[in-house]
Amino acid sequence: MKSRRIGILLALLAGVSQLVFLTPAGAQAQPAPAAGAATAKVSPVAPRKEQVQAIVDEAYAKFKGDTRGKNADCIPVLAKVNPNLFGIAVVSTDNQVVTAGDVKTAFSIQSIAKVFSLALAMEELGANKVFEKIGSEPTGRAFNSPVAVVDMPTHTANPLVNAGAIATVSVISGKTPEEKWAKILGFYGRAAGEKLALIDEVYKSEAATNTGNKALSYLLAKYDRIYSDPFQSVDVYTKSCSVGVNALQLAKMGATLANNGRNPATGEQVIKAVNVPEVLSSMMMAGLYDGSGGWAWRVGVPAKSGVGGGLVAVMPGKGAIAVFAPPLDEAGNSVKGQEVIQYVANKLDLNLFSPASVGLK
Ligand code: GLN
Repeated sequence: MKSRRIGILLALLAGVSQLVFLTPAGAQAQPAPAAGAATAKVSPVAPRKEQVQAIVDEAYAKFKGDTRGKNADCIPVLAKVNPNLFGIAVVSTDNQVVTAGDVKTAFSIQSIAKVFSLALAMEELGANKVFEKIGSEPTGRAFNSPVAVVDMPTHTANPLVNAGAIATVSVISGKTPEEKWAKILGFYGRAAGEKLALIDEVYKSEAATNTGNKALSYLLAKYDRIYSDPFQSVDVYTKSCSVGVNALQLAKMGATLANNGRNPATGEQVIKAVNVPEVLSSMMMAGLYDGSGGWAWRVGVPAKSGVGGGLVAVMPGKGAIAVFAPPLDEAGNSVKGQEVIQYVANKLDLNLFSPASVGLK
């Protein structure tokens, strides 16, 4: 244990810029190199890849039969998605991949899109301006609550509830809504490392029923907290929620955040590194809506859910884990998704608030 601590210290002294999260198959976790050494970047707390695969397989088997929760019905087509679909994907910052189950099935990204719209708004405006225009306070209320808009001093509350997310989309530049939408979709794709597309059926279903979001946008206008046309902003926001991803793509998007904004597969710096901590802190505060406090208490990693059944958690410097399982709890978070990530985070000591996450036990 002592040598592990020394390893960490030496890694810090050596200014190692990237530590390998998963020890490649067959190899043993090595202490970090001595100061000045040029290579060997395996983190002293990196689990072996086969160990991660075994834990993911265990979690998959343990929760596969869990039938708690219910598909979202706030968007009619989501109620029709097969509730038994279940996939888990882990992608490390050095682009190693571990999967189980339905990781190639596309589903709508829904609210997880909010994270990447926030990142894009920050690319354009910087953290301070976005904080000023949107804020980052948890609401303690449902994600689509108009009461929160009235009650919260900033009205927008944070970028991860519907009102704040619609306002976030409204600050992204674009001469026309089409131009703005193309920019957003392109940005999400760069975070995933491959082109993504709208699921038209989901978009149509949500666009036909999103009166609540339209109401939120006009409520924001009343308080001067929306920054372009309210209904156009809702429409672009609705498209952003209707983007199709699979669990593997979602894990890659998370891994881009974990890797300081650089996509581990393509090597592209998609998100400015300087903006990553604020994006992750808003996920910690509000990523699971009014379930965020309980999540932070139990799991301790920033994460974001979507009513399509996706959930992605980001372990800074290490990697990301994404789960797709449609049945949701009362707050709108995937039941199996939360169970799986809690299980894996616990087995691998990922809780950011625990010194065990950097090897101190
Ligand atoms: N598109 C959904 C909405 O605006 C997203 C909600 C969610 O995933 N929590 O209500």
